[in-house]
Amino acid sequence: MPASSPVTPAPGELEVVRAFVNTLDIESGTDRLRDPAAWASWAGERGLDPRATAADLRFGRDLREALRAALLANHDRAPLPPETIEALDAAANRSRLAVRFTPDGPTLRPTGTGVDAVYGRIVSAVAAALVDGTWSRLKACAADDCHWGFYDTSRSRTGQWCSMSICGNRAKQARWRNREP
Ligand SMILES: [Zn+2]
Repeated sequence: MPASSPVTPAPGELEVVRAFVNTLDIESGTDRLRDPAAWASWAGERGLDPRATAADLRFGRDLREALRAALLANHDRAPLPPETIEALDAAANRSRLAVRFTPDGPTLRPTGTGVDAVYGRIVSAVAAALVDGTWSRLKACAADDCHWGFYDTSRSRTGQWCSMSICGNRAKQARWRNREP
């Protein structure tokens, strides 16, 4: 996914999930979770706690790819894949989520610190989106060499590409090249 592509943010806290999935740019191989320094710069840009060990980030990379699998499953509005459920449960445990009440209703808040607080925010955002129905719009680009997280704003909820002008166009050109003579 080229950095210059237009981006529609996901609503509210769900944008944290989309941004987290996109800490890996599959096309360029850039991984903001590759080491503590890379993570600190990504987290710092977003006002998140920048502290993490290499082991914390190994957990984070697994969580991220489990989320990506769920974002791919959202094309078919399939339920959460088993590996995603396992990863979200593990992240919820690490971040020690607690129910807190607000005038708008109950929310889940991480009571863990450091990177676990970030993982907790992600779990909380996924839980809220599953309840309010926005979850199935969060998808990973259908192009195998991309899989960039994007929020599908199409009325029909059938968006497939992170960007129509880039991955959508490439798919169209590939179909054209492979057409029957
Ligand atoms: Zn794409």
